[in-house]
Amino acid sequence: MEKVLVTGGSGFIGLHCIQQLLDQGYDVRCTVRSESKKQEIVDSMMKNSSNANNLEVVMADLLKDEGWNEAVSGCEYVLHVASPFILEVPSDENVLIKPAVEGTLRVLNACKNNKVKKVVLTSSVAAVAYGHKEEKIYDENDWSDTGPGITPYAKSKTLAEKAAWDFVNELTAEDKFELTVINPVAVTGPMLTNDIGTSNELLLKLAGGQMPACPRTHMGFIDVRDVAKAHIFSMKSEKTNGERIIVSEKEMFFVEMSRALNDAGFKKAPKRETAYFLVHDVLIHQRIKWCCRQPWQKGYN
Ligand code: NDP
Repeated sequence: MEKVLVTGGSGFIGLHCIQQLLDQGYDVRCTVRSESKKQEIVDSMMKNSSNANNLEVVMADLLKDEGWNEAVSGCEYVLHVASPFILEVPSDENVLIKPAVEGTLRVLNACKNNKVKKVVLTSSVAAVAYGHKEEKIYDENDWSDTGPGITPYAKSKTLAEKAAWDFVNELTAEDKFELTVINPVAVTGPMLTNDIGTSNELLLKLAGGQMPACPRTHMGFIDVRDVAKAHIFSMKSEKTNGERIIVSEKEMFFVEMSRALNDAGFKKAPKRETAYFLVHDVLIHQRIKWCCRQPWQKGYN
């Protein structure tokens, strides 16, 4: 059976990719950057997949050269999911940008050296629709503006994705492999380990009443299982070669999310809606600035 490398095997999305690949009969290798995560992934797959024996876990860090050639060796496909994803806005943006950009290039170089058929890269809608001043509908033809005002996370995703396309476009015919990029909105859904995941944490904060009121702004959402499905579909479908694909199920205002949480029994979720700027400081304090739109974007006031 064909072998697939999933980078970032310990992550929220990575784990779902691994589970679905195993269930579809693929041999799967995944990377982690610490020994402690190895057993966690194996335990999760023993519980969640009947093909856990077809999983191999290897070590590789996006900030280091070691391990990447060995990780990619023998794989037909690579799902490059790993990238630092944190709610905090770090004082040094390179904490996010360096592993995102240099790590992507390390992975792609190893793919070139090992003649993989295709790479699917997990980018983000943060590489499409952020940092813009113009109010319009943004799509896969657009790139976030990495000038002043963009968050370090959105910048890291934009620069990493651009670096990937540049890398692939400059390959010689002999070295060529295909690339598809998936650009998800906020990803939520069931976890496959005890780690709640960065994006689910936002809903946890809303459900737990850590926001005094709902900012009058909105976000796109998609289920993590659909994101994994999109990666595997793109891996196999030639029609997606060379494409960026935004994946989003629905757009919701915070107050709609909060109502849904209330209906589900989370009575601390705020029912009141307020202008964004009134809860801005609280959002910063709660470390959830990354997901909120810029003041000039629709839905913000
Ligand atoms: P997680 O934080 O759960 O997963 C991130 C993964 O990247 C982890 O496996 C982490 O390893 C790994 N990683 C981080 N830094 C390094 C490094 N220096 N070297 C090797 N591995 C590293 O996040 P998600 O699963 O939610 O996100 C996965 C991808 O999806 C990211 O690229 C993110 O930008 C993108 N994305 C996520 C969205 C979301 O809402 N969740 C929305 C849009 C895009 P470790 O466990 O050791 O920290």
